[in-house]
Amino acid sequence: MSQTSPLQLLTDPLLHDKGVTLRVLREDLLRPGIPGNKWRKLKYNLQAARAQQCETLVTFGGAFSNHIAAVAAAGKEFGFATMGYIRGEETLPLNPTLQYATACGMQLRYLGRTDYRLRQDPGFQAEILKTASKPYLLPEGGTNLLAVQGCTEIVTDLREPWDVLCVAAGTGGTLAGMVAGAAGQGRVIGFPALKGGEFLKQEVTGLVQASTGHTFQNWELQTHYHFGGYAKHTPELLTFIQAFHAQHAILLDPVYTGKMLYGVYDLIRQDSFPRGTQLVAVHTGGQQGWAGYAQRYKLALDFISDGQ
Ligand SMILES: *Cc1c(COP(=O)(O)O)cnc(C)c1O
Repeated sequence: MSQTSPLQLLTDPLLHDKGVTLRVLREDLLRPGIPGNKWRKLKYNLQAARAQQCETLVTFGGAFSNHIAAVAAAGKEFGFATMGYIRGEETLPLNPTLQYATACGMQLRYLGRTDYRLRQDPGFQAEILKTASKPYLLPEGGTNLLAVQGCTEIVTDLREPWDVLCVAAGTGGTLAGMVAGAAGQGRVIGFPALKGGEFLKQEVTGLVQASTGHTFQNWELQTHYHFGGYAKHTPELLTFIQAFHAQHAILLDPVYTGKMLYGVYDLIRQDSFPRGTQLVAVHTGGQQGWAGYAQRYKLALDFISDGQ
């Protein structure tokens, strides 16, 4: 099943000056409720869960996690119960992400820092799974080999020529899928949303190797666009996101896609791409996070209320 997302060509004096084209692949519009890369990552996992006659999707995430929101929505749409193990203490009232997850039917449980650290531990996972009916375990962030396989289709479903693909990275699963999908063609650039994102080099190499049996050299990480770390920002980042929305009517998110597109523009400004380069930046979604983000940082941002 191939699914083509709209490609939106940006017009901008900078792009014109530098002689490059930049299109935004609107993966955020792919599927209402389960936007962006989260649908790509869940698709084959949902098929596997169904084939194994599982009844409950069990996963882990932070309190503002796009993955938690997407799993809750997917469970509701495809008829699975969902259980979300949330890092930290319960805070009431629930933030908008967790309110949404609960409204989708997700059962929430909270893990203190020590327990949360055990989330990859097989013994701990086995204990947790005992409490769910016919469970299917999705790792934090949803990254496993079926997720990587789903993300290859971000590239293989592309219907326009491209030279460079740009994508934000958290766990690197989406980037790995795109590297696998590109199969050595062109250049793929990942923009880690975390500080110290260099560790993703090994993660992504491992995932690509496990998924395809190959190692590719045509990809890289740009690790300088984390803006202080995961879920952190600077006024400069917010100004960029606001201006981008005003100019192109595309709402980026503050955790991933805003940082990635800031980085893409910065690289273009620094003449990192020869004239004639056709860039595609993948909008992986994440707009659900704005409501909680604005609350948490006490931001009054008019541009986030009008959706797309
Ligand atoms: C989850 C997420 C990512 C990161 O995906 P990984 O596969 O974990 O690297 C990027 N962008 C958005 C909007 C996300 O929600």
